[in-house]
Amino acid sequence: MRCEVVAVGTELLLGQIVDTNSAWIGEQLALAGIDCHRHTAVGDNRERMLAAFREAIERSDAVIVTGGLGPTQDDITREVVAEVMGVGMERDPEVVAEIEHRFSGRGRQMPANNLRQADVPVGATVIPEMPGTAPGLVCPIGAKVFYAVPGVPWEMKAMLEGTVLPDLHRRTGSDAVIRSRVLRTWGRSESGLAEVLADEIDRLDVEGGPTLAFLASGMEGLKVRITAKGADEDEVAAVLADEESRVREIVGPIVFGVDDQNMESVVLDELVAQGLTLATAESLTGGMVGTRLTDIPGASRAFRGSIVAYAGDVKRGLLGVPDGPVVSEAAVVAMAEGACRVLGADVSVAVTGVAGPDPQDGEEPGTVWMATSVDGAVEAWKVMFPFDRTLTRQFTVITVLEALRQRLIARRGG
Ligand code: ATP
Ligand code: MG
Repeated sequence: MRCEVVAVGTELLLGQIVDTNSAWIGEQLALAGIDCHRHTAVGDNRERMLAAFREAIERSDAVIVTGGLGPTQDDITREVVAEVMGVGMERDPEVVAEIEHRFSGRGRQMPANNLRQADVPVGATVIPEMPGTAPGLVCPIGAKVFYAVPGVPWEMKAMLEGTVLPDLHRRTGSDAVIRSRVLRTWGRSESGLAEVLADEIDRLDVEGGPTLAFLASGMEGLKVRITAKGADEDEVAAVLADEESRVREIVGPIVFGVDDQNMESVVLDELVAQGLTLATAESLTGGMVGTRLTDIPGASRAFRGSIVAYAGDVKRGLLGVPDGPVVSEAAVVAMAEGACRVLGADVSVAVTGVAGPDPQDGEEPGTVWMATSVDGAVEAWKVMFPFDRTLTRQFTVITVLEALRQRLIARRGG
């Protein structure tokens, strides 16, 4: 069973709305073990919709169309699907009654336009879920099938879950399950990761089995997604677990989390497990480290607080930074020690640097000094980020937390 998705709407092409419907449908199809080969977006134009629908149904066994089912003149999905089916339209009295009922229920007069929504291609069936006023359609073409669902996301979802996915399942007669697991890494570039994993990717290509994909996600790390297919949940889980351990063996300790775990949650869990408290002293990140940590529910179990020391005299006054340059090893060491002392924490991280775009105190933009303090021992190092201000700040957050994570693991003897 090969499926594709066509999203209809000129707004999508103009970038006025983002096609979240196709993304959601793609995810549902994957979870249901149905292969989805293509996503297409097409404007509200009869000729181009006709071409897109025809191509899609020629290539695939099932096509899900989202959008263009409304009552206005530019909503022409119904008509175009009828044309692909080679049939006319007929007015469905049950849908007429249903739409009239919706309007009278809200004490409103039904605009005549809305009756257009009751026009159904001959041979199509109306999807029973109808959360709005646009009816969805199941339109068989020989052994193949077109599903037309509205563009409004919650209407679309109700019809997919209630009718389209179960119908597709019945048609496939198969119960293949597709699942993904995401390994989050930090410390290697995307190309670096692809290089160390090249042999493994080749092996999987040749032998078949799960697939690996990379996704750079800023402060969320560089993700390695493993996707596997199998007869049932147990089989897929075993394949994923096996591939996960292979990948971990190859890339080493740069994997910091799995799926929804992020750097902050992992660091907080490790702190809690070791009974330690954390403080931060932040300059160029302006509190981002603290913000990310406190996004995690239960952060108070380990997080004491942040000192955002932006101006030089604040660094000196609050944290005891010595006279001299504030983007320096001496400054960041004093900040890490000051954070533990002032906020009464066992461990700390500190960052000071030049976020850019302009140089500062003779230092190039992207120059960042970072430090971690664990059991009173401070480690400090310098990083040069070749990025813009936003990425420099983001990468500072995840880099300093990753360094702390590594020290905490070493401390526990892992
Ligand atoms: P309606 O009865 O509301 O007119 P419709 O089936 O005609 O439903 P559209 O007119 O194409 O749907 O879209 C209605 C609204 O639904 C859009 O303005 C947009 O907010 C949302 N929408 C449409 N298509 C998508 C999509 N592919 N992804 C996300 N949202 C969408
Ligand atoms: Mg519409």
